[in-house]
Amino acid sequence: MPQLRALPALRDNYIWMLADAASGCALVVDPGEARPVLSALAQSGCRLTAILLTHHHPDHIGGTAGLLARFPEAVVFAPHDERIGLVTRRVGEGDRIALAAPSAQFEVIEVPGHTRTHIAYHGEGLLFCGDTLFSLGCGRLFEGTPAQMLASLDRLAALPGNTQVCCGHEYTLANAAFALTVEPDNAVLRTREETARALRRSGLPTLPSLIDGERAANPFLRVDAIAAARIPGAAEGADRVARFAALRLAKDHFPG
Ligand code: ZN
Ligand code: FE
Repeated sequence: MPQLRALPALRDNYIWMLADAASGCALVVDPGEARPVLSALAQSGCRLTAILLTHHHPDHIGGTAGLLARFPEAVVFAPHDERIGLVTRRVGEGDRIALAAPSAQFEVIEVPGHTRTHIAYHGEGLLFCGDTLFSLGCGRLFEGTPAQMLASLDRLAALPGNTQVCCGHEYTLANAAFALTVEPDNAVLRTREETARALRRSGLPTLPSLIDGERAANPFLRVDAIAAARIPGAAEGADRVARFAALRLAKDHFPG
């Protein structure tokens, strides 16, 4: 059974590593820099066989060249987007990835919104979702519309509840602060916030979270449950896309 690790990188990124001690092989997702990956590989005595990229932002792909310099045989998976170079195999909606070592299979889900070509990888009970779904939040809309992002989040929310959400940043506490302004009485959210606070005090990641935990506490997955009156800037009777758009805008302007 491959072991999952969140390697802290840059300011608040996580590079996800799935390492299989038996085969001595590892894959990483969204290596924003090479250094933390190289030291984790050295530590575990594994070699890198695959790199999975979710979108073109430098904090998710910046370490690719450095990793390939050391492990030129590693296969690089990425969305159909010329802004990402050094790619072995471009993947899109419904494509399946079967890796021999570490032994793992993933299906690609296209999740436009944060960027136009953002993809997520789902398999092995894991979801690598980059900057689309965050613990208690979602990514900013740099290239997509609110309707696109909401449709992408709806698809991720429909995955099995016990799927581990492996997202690109440590944003849980900041997201919780905003979420509590929208749903101050959500008991699941309050517990998540307390747990996250304790983990961060100990210097530990608050991730992965679980899909069912996100459904219960992430306001961006709860636009059907949250009244428009609770969302700053949402008109009374606003439909779910308009409520989502207002929620995302309110978060953009939320301090922190
Ligand atoms: Zn990004
Ligand atoms: Fe990012």
